[in-house]
Amino acid sequence: MSPREQLCAYGRRAVELGLVIGTSGNLSVRQGDLVAVTPSGVALDRLTPEMCPVVDVEGHLVEGDLQPSSETPMHLAVYASTQAQAVVHTHSVFGTVVATTMTELPPIHYNALLLGGTVRVAPYATYGTPELAGHVREALDGRQAALMANHGGVTIGATLEQAFEATRLLEWLCEVYVRALGVGRPAVLTPEQLDAVVERAFDPPVFPRRPA
Ligand SMILES: [Zn+2]
Repeated sequence: MSPREQLCAYGRRAVELGLVIGTSGNLSVRQGDLVAVTPSGVALDRLTPEMCPVVDVEGHLVEGDLQPSSETPMHLAVYASTQAQAVVHTHSVFGTVVATTMTELPPIHYNALLLGGTVRVAPYATYGTPELAGHVREALDGRQAALMANHGGVTIGATLEQAFEATRLLEWLCEVYVRALGVGRPAVLTPEQLDAVVERAFDPPVFPRRPA
């Protein structure tokens, strides 16, 4: 699939899974010095490949008739400061709940390690501004995910599939946290417990074959 075809496929999936509503949320895929991004003002489940603009890493429009998403500066800032090849941004419900009430999402489940551990909430700034892009870049340092205060979430990956799965995981972790708060006080995993998970992952159990 070409980068623009990928944007259509994952845009549809984001709507199907309820991660985005209407024209909110945007995705991009980097290929060399070019970035294919979802356009401004088109619902993510109505995209066709030709609708998706292609920009260079400085933000000049290279291909397409529609304007790139207003969050394109944030996507470009992320590409400039990370190894990411894809960026996914949504206003998913539970991610936005956490981003509206907290300064970070603590690791209450070991799967948070897949996103780099504690997820930071970038301070609020107006959407589409260089200020917001700068906050997001800092919040993503050493992470695959960040939240943006009173706004939503952003995840990165080596592929769009990876970045998309990171968004699903981020939303799941936020939902578990919010639901856990309704039952009691969620226990946060200690650094030692998280280290032990990393060790376990490097030393998985081996199941020897039963002798014939
Ligand atoms: Zn947004």
